[in-house]
Amino acid sequence: MGAREPARPRLGVFKFASCDGCQLTLLDCEDELLALAARVDVTHFLEASSAVGTGPYDLSLVEGSVTTAEDAERIRSVRAASRRLVTIGACATAGGVQALRNFADVEEFREVVYARPEYVETLATSTPSPRTSPSTSNSRAVPSTAASCWR
Ligand code: SF4
Repeated sequence: MGAREPARPRLGVFKFASCDGCQLTLLDCEDELLALAARVDVTHFLEASSAVGTGPYDLSLVEGSVTTAEDAERIRSVRAASRRLVTIGACATAGGVQALRNFADVEEFREVVYARPEYVETLATSTPSPRTSPSTSNSRAVPSTAASCWR
């Protein structure tokens, strides 16, 4: 009887307000994906699979900024279920294009852009994902144009 294989680290990839480009960049790593899948349990990655896994996660990668009340609630639950959380890309790290609203009147934008603004639910601001930490006492955000690590 052989020795039991050690459990593979569980990876979660999560999308918030974004264009999906950062997740697609992960999927573009075609040559490395099979080797990665052999070493990591990709538990939750809706851009790659419709299978919906639940935490806990050893590592969560987060794309996109927090722009709705639902986002704010969800990023807290992702953080709570994750040993490590790393934001990827400008949206998750700095707010992205969505953060332009932080310097304008979001109500005016909503009225001008959408034919039925009453259906659009949004926060007045768009924030990088780490800003919504439930507790920042043990958190560390490393400013970067590419990613930040949030422990
Ligand atoms: S940082 Fe945001 S806009 Fe840029 S590729 Fe990633 S998700 Fe898309």
